[in-house]
Amino acid sequence: PVPSPTDLRALLRRVAAHGEGLARQQGTTLEVEEETTPLLAAVDGDLMQQVLLNLLLNALAAVGTNGHIRLRASRRGEQVCLEVEDDGCGIGPELHGKIFDPFFTTKDQGTGLGLANASRIVEAHGGKLGVRSAPGAGAVFTVCLPVLEE
Ligand code: ADP
Ligand code: MG
Repeated sequence: PVPSPTDLRALLRRVAAHGEGLARQQGTTLEVEEETTPLLAAVDGDLMQQVLLNLLLNALAAVGTNGHIRLRASRRGEQVCLEVEDDGCGIGPELHGKIFDPFFTTKDQGTGLGLANASRIVEAHGGKLGVRSAPGAGAVFTVCLPVLEE
């Protein structure tokens, strides 16, 4: 990656703009929630945008029609975190250990590479990609990165 200081709120808005059309087509709401102060991290903008877009596409697939998706950017101590939350099908506990494996997919046309790539990219930035989810209760994927102080 070629990292440069980036306001993650701007990155999140760009990703939301990319997903808006798809969301509208399936009757799903897409909301962005962010803090009022800049959330700076050293990231490769193209790569990190790819990560968030992958998480958003997964969320859109998980909610089907009439879902709700929320993108959130916030500061947590020395970290800046980006969350993609959906109210879709959720992920059973038995799958939490598998979904980040390359080629693991539950989709007919899935590659199973989205989350494997995403987590590799986030870790190359010194960050972590995590998930909280239960079947039927939706999912929250969280990207946490070291904050870059101004
Ligand atoms: P793919 O999207 O090609 O299946 P991913 O690596 O992006 O590959 O995701 C792997 C699997 O993780 C998916 O097939 C799906 O079972 C599960 N998954 C990922 N994101 C979500 C989500 N938001 N809600 C429910 N399941 C998810
Ligand atoms: Mg995917």
